[in-house]
Amino acid sequence: MEILKAENLSKTYGTGEARVEALKDVSFSMARGEFGAVVGASGSGKSTLLKLIGTLLSPTSGKIYYRGTDLQKIDPVEYRKEVSYFFQNASLFDETVQENLSFPARIREEGFDRERAKKLLERVQIPETYLSKEVKELSGGEKQRVALVRNLMYQPKVLLLDEVTSSLDQENRAIVLDLVRDMMKDQQTTVLAVTHNQEEIDQASRLITIKGGKMEESK
Ligand code: ADP
Ligand code: MG
Repeated sequence: MEILKAENLSKTYGTGEARVEALKDVSFSMARGEFGAVVGASGSGKSTLLKLIGTLLSPTSGKIYYRGTDLQKIDPVEYRKEVSYFFQNASLFDETVQENLSFPARIREEGFDRERAKKLLERVQIPETYLSKEVKELSGGEKQRVALVRNLMYQPKVLLLDEVTSSLDQENRAIVLDLVRDMMKDQQTTVLAVTHNQEEIDQASRLITIKGGKMEESK
């Protein structure tokens, strides 16, 4: 069963002379548990594609289906609980690590799962004592990892990753990829990742190449 399907997705920004056709007629589908890599030059439309799927933007035309249902018929709040968009410069709130990590529980009106937070932090090599730390005391790499943990406090069905490993060094990239692979165990999470990293591209079960807003090929 397809978890995601894009059908003739197009997105145009602006009007008149400022009009940019960022995405043109992109169609593809992803089965549950797949790892899709989105590749293409800068400005080709990769982030636009992910933002459309993450409902941060609405398509100019075309449709997105999630588990066979037209996205327009799905409650956006419920959808975002299952489909998580994570980008390169994901920002944390200017509070403590714990306040950041408990945000997903707060919006669900549930209690903070400290054990899960602890386990996930450990997986990204951040000690539990960091929970009481102010975000401004963290390094860039630590912030990125805490932001990823926040996204994973509730395991998403679909994880959209927009160049999240681009700014990371080899060690941090390995830590992040390891955690993402863990999430993919038993096909629990389907991943669609914009990446320039050859290792990630090689691992992908599906390759979506975007050139000038158009999809070129697919593995
Ligand atoms: P990529 O992620 O592949 O670098 P983007 O999806 O960010 O590409 O951008 C695709 C095209 O759309 C580019 O020409 C970019 O300048 C343009 N674009 C992106 N976001 C906006 C926006 N909010 N308003 C106007 N144009 C935009
Ligand atoms: Mg981009």
